Order: sequence, then structure tokens, then C-alpha cells
Amino acid sequence: MKKTVLVTGAARGIGLALAEVFVSNGWNVIANVRNLAPDKLKPLQDLKEQFNHSLEIGQADVTVRPQVDALVNAGVAKFGTIDLLINNAGVAQSKLFIDLTEQDWDLVCDTNLKGVFYCSQSVLRYMLPRKEGQIINISSIWGMVGASCEAHYAAAKAGVIGLTKSLAKELGPSKIRVNCIAPGIIETDMLVGYTTADKQEMAQKTPLQRLGTPREIAELALFLASEQASFITGQVISPNGGIVI
Ligand code: NDP
Repeated sequence: MKKTVLVTGAARGIGLALAEVFVSNGWNVIANVRNLAPDKLKPLQDLKEQFNHSLEIGQADVTVRPQVDALVNAGVAKFGTIDLLINNAGVAQSKLFIDLTEQDWDLVCDTNLKGVFYCSQSVLRYMLPRKEGQIINISSIWGMVGASCEAHYAAAKAGVIGLTKSLAKELGPSKIRVNCIAPGIIETDMLVGYTTADKQEMAQKTPLQRLGTPREIAELALFLASEQASFITGQVISPNGGIVI
């Protein structure tokens, strides 16, 4: 029987790669997007045309609880269940800590951490009674080691790591695995504020001498979701080219 994954923030970047990799490996995919504007959805619409009934696009802002619950309910109504949630939606911002406004703090922490709380609680309503399911949270190396000029982002991503470990302990007896992927620097729109020279410098600081690709993160998630990873829970795995060891 086909399994179903809900991927948040699937319109582009790592989320889009997750949708592509899972749907092409035989999963049903609920691809969450914040914005239904057609120009933003072209790659996802193309994927839907290719895989038709196996991919459903669902709008929700992960920071708005009723939208999250409606997304999850619609996904379950369509596919019967949600076997895996990948909390991928995120937003980054570069600013000196002293200049952060409450608005900045709330945007970054609500999207990266509170969204994970809402989405996880919402799918667990269905996973807990079945005593089956998985959650994969996308954190960041900055949540592991801290980041200058991204203190709120690093704090939120560190929170995601704490939440992952806590839920793995709490949900293990219910046979629900919870893991975290903490990527290094990955070539997506999230790097849009950086120049080519900045990116070359980041690559040079990375032992493997390059940035990562969204697909490399998605392939790791596919492994974590597989039977081969059935004894892995509460772990933080960091595909980062060696920049954090
Ligand atoms: P992108 O900026 O390319 O994509 C982020 C996605 O999240 C977009 O689809 C965006 O939607 C969505 N999103 C943002 N806010 C919300 C919201 N409130 N509700 C629903 N969706 C939302 O970034 P990446 O693909 O690089 O990032 C994916 C994840 O990986 C994030 O959690 C990020 O923090 C993490 N990460 C990224 C790294 C990198 O170097 N790229 C490194 C480490 C971690 P929309 O298109 O509408 O804006």
C-alpha cells in the first residue's frame, strides 16, 4: 500500500525536491504551499501533471493553526492517512541581534518553530491512535552551532532540535519515529541575499569545496523514512559537506 507524506513549504527549494523525490519513489505527496499564485506554483504543477493522483497541492500558512488543521484533514480525507510529516517550511533573515524587532523575532520563530509545533500536533491526532508514523524536521547547522547575525533563526532551529529529541522520547513507545535533518549551506532561494563571491567563499570554507543541493537533502529524508532506518529516532543528521563536524 502506498504511503503518504505531507511536506510543508513545497513550492520551491528543498521542499520541492522532497516532493519530487518522494512522489517519484512511489509515495503519495501532500505538497503544502503558502501561496497559490500560479507563477509560484509552476514547478509543482508540472510535477502534478506527471504524477496526477499521487500529488495533491494544499494551501496553508504553517503559522496559522486552523489552516494547518484544515490542510491535514484534507490530506487524510484524500489519501486515508498521513504516514510521514516533513516540517520543511522555513524563513531566514540576516540582521544584527541588536537591531531585531519583535516582528522579526516572531516571523522567524513562528515560521521555523511554532509551525513545527502546529503541524506535528495536527498530524499526531491521526498517528497516535494508529501507533504508527514518522516526523522529519528540517533544522540547520546554525541550530547546532549558533550563527552571528541570525540569532533568532539559530534559536528557532535549535528549538527544532530540542523538539525532535523530546518527541522522539515521548512518541517512541507509540512507535512513532522523529528525526531531524540539519543541512549545511544548500543552493536555494534562501541564499538570494548572497553574492556569487559570498557563495564561493562559503564553498571554500566547506571541506568538500561546494554547496549542497536540495536533492541531497531529499534523498536523506527518503532514507530516514525507509524500513532501513527503522531503528533511528531522535537523531540529528547533518549533510553539510564537512563545514560542521
Ligand atoms: P526556500 O526559501 O527556497 O523555501 C522555503 C519554503 O518555505 C518556501 O516554499 C516558502 O513558501 C515556505 N514557507 C515560508 N514560510 C511559510 C509559511 N508560513 N507557511 C508555509 N510555507 C512557508 O528555502 P529552502 O528550501 O532553502 O529551505 C527549506 C528549509 O531548509 C527551511 O526550513 C530552511 O530553514 C532549511 N535550511 C535551508 C538551508 C539552506 O542553505 N538553503 C540550510 C539549512 C536549513 P513561499 O514560496 O510562499 O515563500
